[in-house]
Amino acid sequence: MKCKILNEPQIHNGIVLSLFEKLKKVFSETAKNLGQKAISKKEIDSILEELQINLMENDVAYEVVDEMTSKIKTEILNLRLERKENSDQVITTKLYSYLRELFLSTNTEIDIIQSILEKKKSKTGPYSIIFLGINGTGKTTTIAKFCKLLRDHGISVVLAAADTHRAGAIEQITHHGNKLNVKVISQRYGADPSAVARDALEHAKKNYIDAVLIDTAGRMQTSKNLMEEVSKIIRVIKPDMKIFVGDSLAGNDTVNQAREFFHYTNYDGSILTKSDADSKGGAAISIAYLTHKPILYLGVGQGYDDLAEFDHDKFLDSIFKDRVYDKTIDDLKSKETS
Ligand code: GDP
Repeated sequence: MKCKILNEPQIHNGIVLSLFEKLKKVFSETAKNLGQKAISKKEIDSILEELQINLMENDVAYEVVDEMTSKIKTEILNLRLERKENSDQVITTKLYSYLRELFLSTNTEIDIIQSILEKKKSKTGPYSIIFLGINGTGKTTTIAKFCKLLRDHGISVVLAAADTHRAGAIEQITHHGNKLNVKVISQRYGADPSAVARDALEHAKKNYIDAVLIDTAGRMQTSKNLMEEVSKIIRVIKPDMKIFVGDSLAGNDTVNQAREFFHYTNYDGSILTKSDADSKGGAAISIAYLTHKPILYLGVGQGYDDLAEFDHDKFLDSIFKDRVYDKTIDDLKSKETS
């Protein structure tokens, strides 16, 4: 499947900007509407109801929408009583702070490259990473991008073709391996995926290779089947890092996949692909809320270098940034300083 790119990604310092225009519009309009003076309780309810619908249309999970709007409602009612000036700014702060706290509640300390380098230094490697997710989300491309990223940091890599089910999966990862000049460990179709992953780990150990990236199956007869298989590989391999790969265009499907994979594998973080296309951005919020695990990277194109580190502050900038928000952030910063 080729993905239609609707707008050129804008990358600044490696970070994607202005990709989430739809969410941005939702938040700024809500702040503007709620910020009107002398607004009735009935009007507040109707604006918040519209916010709920808009957020859900932008792939924000119902649980997040519900919690966020009920918290904000209480604060807005109090705010109305205090008859504060600059209400839209105060409301922008509330919306922004809610989301910022949500992202801060995930483990933002994960630094995979640093962890691999530490393991390399202590000669206890290889460092293994398993990639989980449904076919078509961009998992194989993401593994190739990640492989390139590690190599750019002086980390040697071997790939494990542990999707032994889908026709073409082994050839696909081998194709990337050849292009990147990286060895791919594979067996025949139908082989035990755990055995392929184990082979790759042994190969890496013998050849002093720093990192093993493990591809996994994305579709089997039943979802239970797939979850049992990935759980088994994890039990056998005990990877250092488990990463869920989700398609940011697939909306609620991605959120449901994230939830199910998390239930079975308790993964450490996510990568959201195709953020360069017409992504709504809500999947990042939903997955952070549901898992309390960080979004690690965003896929921002089809090339090997199109992987941008996810920075929640830059993400929030891209969905809030306008005059009111700039003023809000300036005020928050000067408060922090004083
Ligand atoms: P898999 O079945 O999950 O392994 O998916 P693939 O890696 O084969 O990717 C499916 C399609 O999505 C391919 O055409 C990729 O080039 C494309 N793709 C993957 N990541 C991105 C991304 O970040 N942006 C865009 N625009 N396309 C992507």
